[in-house]
Amino acid sequence: MKIAVFPGSFDPITLGHTDIINRALPLFDQLIIAIGINVDKKYMFDVDKRKQMIQAVYQNEPKITVTDYTGLTVDFCHKHHLKFILRGLRNPADFEFEKAIAQTNRKLGGVETVFLLTGPDTSYISSSIVRDIYRNGGDVSSLVPPEVVKMIK
Ligand code: ADP
Repeated sequence: MKIAVFPGSFDPITLGHTDIINRALPLFDQLIIAIGINVDKKYMFDVDKRKQMIQAVYQNEPKITVTDYTGLTVDFCHKHHLKFILRGLRNPADFEFEKAIAQTNRKLGGVETVFLLTGPDTSYISSSIVRDIYRNGGDVSSLVPPEVVKMIK
């Protein structure tokens, strides 16, 4: 059985994330969306809220489970016997950042990272832009799934 983990902050989940998730679904038997908790980082939405948002979007998708974790993603993979990490690439900065991590995870951890290239309609979307707009009272409905729009009203 091919199981991948899609790790991220998902603060909040956006249409950029769902584009990657939806395109990865045919490639794997199961997809674990794992919210990484970094104690030094400040988040806009608490982890339970972020989890509820993702669960609301994928409530009818049996291949998807949602969880959270602390520490290294590669340790999470070992703990759950996972061989594949899913990540999205938006731009050269993403590539440079991801390259070293993916190579390290493969060399030291035996975990392969599968990258999907961002879609042309969603490549500009990031959680940080969504947070900025939301914080300033703007309309984020073209950037996040409708379930999220409802939950943050
Ligand atoms: P992290 O803090 O781990 O980068 P994010 O929630 O920002 O967490 O992103 C999680 C994953 O989703 C990353 O691989 C990121 O590249 C990908 N991603 C986010 N937005 C997009 C987008 N618009 N298109 C493609 N991939 C995206």
